[in-house]
Amino acid sequence: MSVFLPDLILENVMCITPQLLEERGIRAIVLDVDNTLTSHGNPEPWEGVTEWLTLMKGLGIPLMISSNNTRERVEPFASRLGVDFVPMSCKPLPIGLSRAVKRFNLPKKQVAIVGDQIFTDVLGGNLEGIQTILVKPFEEEQGRLFQLKRRFEQRFISAYYRKQ
Ligand SMILES: [Mg+2]
Repeated sequence: MSVFLPDLILENVMCITPQLLEERGIRAIVLDVDNTLTSHGNPEPWEGVTEWLTLMKGLGIPLMISSNNTRERVEPFASRLGVDFVPMSCKPLPIGLSRAVKRFNLPKKQVAIVGDQIFTDVLGGNLEGIQTILVKPFEEEQGRLFQLKRRFEQRFISAYYRKQ
């Protein structure tokens, strides 16, 4: 299995239903922030995200934010959502992600990461040995480097769909 391939690609985080968690044996979720729970730099959660979080909390699913962004960005957003967080996670390195996963105190295969980027969220999750769910970004990024990364992601996204 390629470390660049997600276990699942979904339109967005709200597509994670109680049935899906049940089917895949997911008992806890690590969440990326930018382009996963809202657009880049946006202090407000994306439409529907608050309700989805309420649903997950109601099911007793532990949640943890793991973002490569700074504490200044992540802390106000996470506290607004009432979710614990690890900022400056350095995904795909295990530095912050491992810390987030350990807090659940569950077998790794019962943990999933949800994020919008293959080279940080999916690669980091696969290296950590947890389930990986790739979501589509809410907004297209402007920077050249980002556009290049998105182009490189396409080959893995295509490989994922070929496997289905
Ligand atoms: Mg992101």
